[in-house]
Amino acid sequence: MTQKNVSLSRLNTFNLPGTAERYLALTDLRQLEGKPFLKAPELILGGGSNILLLDHVPGLTVHVCLGGIKLLSEANPADPKADKIIRVGAGVDWNQFVRYTLDQGWYGFENLILIPGTVGAAPVQNIGAYGAEVAERIEAVHVWEFGVGARILSPDECEFGYRDSRFKREPGRFLITAVDLRLNGRHELKTGYGAIQSELARLNVEDPTPNDVALAVTNIRRSKLPDWKFLGNSGSFFKNPVVPISDFQRLRAEYDQIPSYPIDETQVKLPAGWLIDQAGLKGARSGPVGTYDKQALVMVNHGGATGREILTFSEHVKAEVLAKFGVTLEREVRLIGE
Ligand SMILES: Cc1cc2nc3c(=O)[nH]c(=O)nc-3n(C[C@H](O)[C@H](O)[C@H](O)COP(=O)(O)OP(=O)(O)OC[C@H]3O[C@@H](n4cnc5c(N)ncnc54)[C@H](O)[C@@H]3O)c2cc1C
Repeated sequence: MTQKNVSLSRLNTFNLPGTAERYLALTDLRQLEGKPFLKAPELILGGGSNILLLDHVPGLTVHVCLGGIKLLSEANPADPKADKIIRVGAGVDWNQFVRYTLDQGWYGFENLILIPGTVGAAPVQNIGAYGAEVAERIEAVHVWEFGVGARILSPDECEFGYRDSRFKREPGRFLITAVDLRLNGRHELKTGYGAIQSELARLNVEDPTPNDVALAVTNIRRSKLPDWKFLGNSGSFFKNPVVPISDFQRLRAEYDQIPSYPIDETQVKLPAGWLIDQAGLKGARSGPVGTYDKQALVMVNHGGATGREILTFSEHVKAEVLAKFGVTLEREVRLIGE
């Protein structure tokens, strides 16, 4: 049932004002068979943790609330440590899902614990953290293609990249209804990130389990990222820029402390938070908007900000980084209501 003029202020983690002209909570796949879904709605909304609401959203907003977690298959049902394929409804909360998998002894998402949002949005920007990405474990994505109907896309058809996929590049073409994910019964831990190693050492863990890694990541995230319920934010506002190696060498000659992550022989990824920090903008503030004082990559709403104020401030940050380093930052969040 569609509702009119529904406030979205509690449905986005920046806590920004905004209203949907028409709003529908999608709880059942059969709702998609109705006439409104011959064409795409104005906004497909999950947890609202990767959007910047600029204004009133005209037309229809579909809030994806499809639930369900189902064990589809096991490589060897007699072996509790065999791989499992799990089908998860798009509206399931990502962090709750990760906690559920750990409770079941299904491993692989411990590095991605505490990321806000829904399972259905996870493939959109191929969520990632601490050396892991969701795409590594996606078996299939179930979608509703507007004007076409239900389809199942293979990982190749999703065209995943760094914080990227065709869902991000073709907004409005697909609504993700469920995701099939592969999890392990045996540990295959990713503890290469320095922060994880330091936290495990601090916890006196020598031979970590997936639950230890999940605890380490939880502790790191809690110490670095603000809780959006108290300080509105969308996590990383910009992507980490990937630059040609020649640009990196030029920068390193001037800033010998610059951190970097090699992508391949020709490209290097730079931490956007470091660039913003070095541009003197960590903890900077303009009225109700600013960067977080513990992580410059996070834009925060100190209270009462509008989406346009956040956008304007982010453009200032982008311009300062470009002027100092010659590096262009690209937004990770999607602007809504532009
Ligand atoms: C504190 C904080 C920390 C974060 N940390 C990380 C991190 O470590 N790594 C990371 O990758 N991200 C991180 N994020 C960003 C965000 O959590 C993820 O991008 C998340 O997947 C967004 O999910 P959502 O349900 O909130 O999506 P929304 O914000 O509701 O939507 C995001 C985009 O996906 C589209 N979309 C949503 N659901 C669907 C669907 N079912 N079908 C089709 N399109 C859909 C929307 O139209 C929109 O374009 C963080 C955010 C916050 C607030």
